[in-house]
Amino acid sequence: MGIVGAGPAGLILSQLLDRAGIDSVILENRDREYVTERVRAGLLEQATADLLDELGLGERMHREGLVHQGLYLRFAHQTHRIPLSELTGGRSIWIYGQQEVVKDLIEARLAAGQQLHFEVADVSVHDFDGDSPRIEYTHEGERHVVDCDVIAGCDGFHGVCRPAIESALTIHNHEYPFGWLGILATVPPSTDELIYTNHERGFALHTMRSPELSRLYLQCDPHDDITNWSDDRIWEEMHHRFETDDGWQLNEGPIVDKGITPMRSFVVEPMQHGRLYLAGDAAHIVPPTGAKGLNLAVRDVRVLAEALISFYADNDSSLLDAYSATCLRRVWRVQHFSWWMTSMLHLIGDADDFEHRLQLAQLDYVVSSTAAATTLAENYVGLDKV
Ligand SMILES: Cc1cc2nc3c(=O)[nH]c(=O)nc-3n(C[C@H](O)[C@H](O)[C@H](O)COP(=O)(O)OP(=O)(O)OC[C@H]3O[C@@H](n4cnc5c(N)ncnc54)[C@H](O)[C@@H]3O)c2cc1C
Repeated sequence: MGIVGAGPAGLILSQLLDRAGIDSVILENRDREYVTERVRAGLLEQATADLLDELGLGERMHREGLVHQGLYLRFAHQTHRIPLSELTGGRSIWIYGQQEVVKDLIEARLAAGQQLHFEVADVSVHDFDGDSPRIEYTHEGERHVVDCDVIAGCDGFHGVCRPAIESALTIHNHEYPFGWLGILATVPPSTDELIYTNHERGFALHTMRSPELSRLYLQCDPHDDITNWSDDRIWEEMHHRFETDDGWQLNEGPIVDKGITPMRSFVVEPMQHGRLYLAGDAAHIVPPTGAKGLNLAVRDVRVLAEALISFYADNDSSLLDAYSATCLRRVWRVQHFSWWMTSMLHLIGDADDFEHRLQLAQLDYVVSSTAAATTLAENYVGLDKV
């Protein structure tokens, strides 16, 4: 197996295949430090956490991660709790940084003696229309070739695998007129569970990475420059957006990381062409409001690993043939949920307009109807059957 990309998708795929005795080579164009320090997702669905346990990689997550049984929706300056576990038969979510998951996976891959090459350049994929695909790349000035049975394109949104088959794909792309300004601050979280806020100045989210590290986001102009946002300006805006009528206080602390991310919904269909299979962000992007990107990437490679194991063990390609259709059912469910959460929580027109009144009515319904709250809860912790 040739795997392009050492993000969560590529690393977990390699781990799953190794367990079944299938060798893989992972090629990553960044250095190891960059990959393990990149601050991105931090919320694991129950099924993702369970998979890390199953793979023997959950030890640090259990020690350092946080389990949450609910989340808060804040609007009209009031806070309402959605009891996720109570509404989903006891399922919960884990707060454990993506970079920590990646660190654990890289260590496991190297300890197992699997090939994982960082800092490769000029990766290109070839002959995936036939039975003998190959990947070419440059490492330390030398050109190399990986002859493989199958190529997994786990190289994220800006990788090379999707463009290699783009003419065979249908692309669905929806860009939002806002982005997220995200900060990481060395200050204990001001909340025990995540707070999603709909405010007349725009959306805000309070999440965390540990009992000492807070992660917060503000809706912003996606084209804004982060240098326009001094730390003081960020905290001032956070205070506005999280304000409540009950005197709730937001803790401030040193900001150690900040950046602006645009938001989009993106899907390609099909997620495969010949012997090249796309997984994770290479095939789809969701707006982060539903906290699904990492979880969806993990789900794709679970499906792909199962299909490959059947292909190698029984010479049966039926699961591989069905890979895209199997994944896309969940991809579209998750796309809808992420779009729904985004549409309900972000300021789209201005605070007095019709859209905003509809959002408030929808939020009021979600927090006052068990059926509506359950819809949010079961999608948030991750659906089993899709
Ligand atoms: C700011 C931010 C916050 C997020 N928050 C959340 C969240 O709370 N919850 C959630 O579930 N998701 C979240 N996400 C999304 C989540 O981080 C991604 O969905 C996840 O990283 C997807 O994993 P992946 O392995 O598919 O892709 P990636 O993590 O992007 O990994 C792809 C890898 O391929 C490498 N690569 C790229 N091109 C090449 C090439 N040509 N050759 C070799 N290697 C290459 C890249 O360097 C990278 O290491 C967030 C994303 C961002 C940006």
